[in-house]
Amino acid sequence: MSIQTVNPYNNKVVKSFEEMSDKTVDTLIEKSVKTFKEWKETSYAERAKILHKVAKIMRDKKESLAKIITLEMGKLIAQAEGEILLSADIFDYYADNAADFLADKHLEPEFGSALIRFSPIGIILGVEPWNFPFYQVARFAAPNLMVGNTVLVKHASSVPQCAIAIEELFNEAGAPVGLYTNLLISGKRASALVSDKRIKGVALTGSEEAGANIAAEAGKNLKKSVLELGGSDAFIILDDADIDKTVEWAVVGRINNNGESCVASKRFIAVEAVADEFIKKFKEKLSILVIGDPMDSKTELGPLSSEAAAVHIADQVKRSVDAGAKVLLGGTRSDREGAFMQPTILTALNPKIPAYYEELFGPVASFYRVKNEQEAIDLANDSNFGLGCSVFTQDIERGKRVADKIDAGMVFINHPTGTKANLPFGGTKGSGYGRELSELGIQEFVNKKLIRVS
Ligand code: NDP
Repeated sequence: MSIQTVNPYNNKVVKSFEEMSDKTVDTLIEKSVKTFKEWKETSYAERAKILHKVAKIMRDKKESLAKIITLEMGKLIAQAEGEILLSADIFDYYADNAADFLADKHLEPEFGSALIRFSPIGIILGVEPWNFPFYQVARFAAPNLMVGNTVLVKHASSVPQCAIAIEELFNEAGAPVGLYTNLLISGKRASALVSDKRIKGVALTGSEEAGANIAAEAGKNLKKSVLELGGSDAFIILDDADIDKTVEWAVVGRINNNGESCVASKRFIAVEAVADEFIKKFKEKLSILVIGDPMDSKTELGPLSSEAAAVHIADQVKRSVDAGAKVLLGGTRSDREGAFMQPTILTALNPKIPAYYEELFGPVASFYRVKNEQEAIDLANDSNFGLGCSVFTQDIERGKRVADKIDAGMVFINHPTGTKANLPFGGTKGSGYGRELSELGIQEFVNKKLIRVS
């Protein structure tokens, strides 16, 4: 895949980029090695200074950075600005809290003393996706840089201008060369890099296929990996849910980021008592969305990130309909240029229909009607993924009891799955392993060294 900015609003190629040669990549890794030797000796305060500067410049440049996101992957401009602010918050959060998170942990052995000291391990490679091009990088880079590691980022080939802009933020913030390095290379070459002895760990956010590739390389080379892969979040509507509020959240949960989020609500599961009211209102709301230019603040649903993504989801819908699914709304590409897909609702699904198990990365909702709470839980768990889930009920204790029975890394009650700097993010099953963000996220690529005094 070539490295290019293609505007998904009209599918026009805006700019193409040369891949870096092996020699350039080698020189950049060497620089990162040298910088690591110095960076690991710096204090948390010195590291925090750089990260706070990055956050400040990000906020100062919010409008121009957001425009690059929208140009390259079609996110609504207001959401792109929100992403920049969230990313800045993540840099500030780790700058403010890393020293506490990584403070010596004193143990109480039978005699003498013992402590756990957290220390950096070296260069960490991040392989990042296009769907939240700043946020995904922030949640990988900020904790690792505060630990004292240096980072190499191989960003998705469809967001090269975002990738370059992030590296420039570090340069502007006065970061030493080699602290944060952008690699303009293909996914395959990123996978091959995992075996490089100078690289000590790898984190990937993306598809299961890319994750399996990276994990295999990491395993062969006995290196730590963290994977944040796809999701097919269930959105459970119990009989005591406030349906009007639930419908509002269902729309946000499905179409936020034009539907291209690993934690988007994808499978809507309503118990019989409220299923008719929910689906009627949900369909009404989805059918009146303002579809159009993501740069226009009045637009409510923009294009998918690429023509290939639109072709893929339209094909998933077609294959599902061919296998017996019913279309309650939409069902095909929009009748306009660009990578658009109509808001769609599929029903009459069963395990033999592709949409039942496949991840639907776009504005396509699957709707299921179940008899009761237990059936809702069973259906929610009948997925290869285990990223997030949401449960709508007015009885919070009931919501927590349901949450206990859900096989997912995150369960939200009365809200679609979301993210904040101080909340852990990650999944189980086919959604990957390890955690990003919060105190948990900073502990992935560290040596937790025991120091024992007799
Ligand atoms: P990919 O997994 O292909 O892309 C994510 C990142 O992985 C990119 O940087 C990509 O590089 C890189 N990559 C791709 N193949 C390999 C490989 N063999 N080894 C190492 N790195 C690799 O996702 P797509 O863009 O193709 O999207 C496909 C599907 O993946 C989506 O429809 C969605 O289901 C899922 N996805 C999930 C995301 C999430 O947030 N969890 C984010 C994005 C996608 P390059 O761009 O150069 O190929």
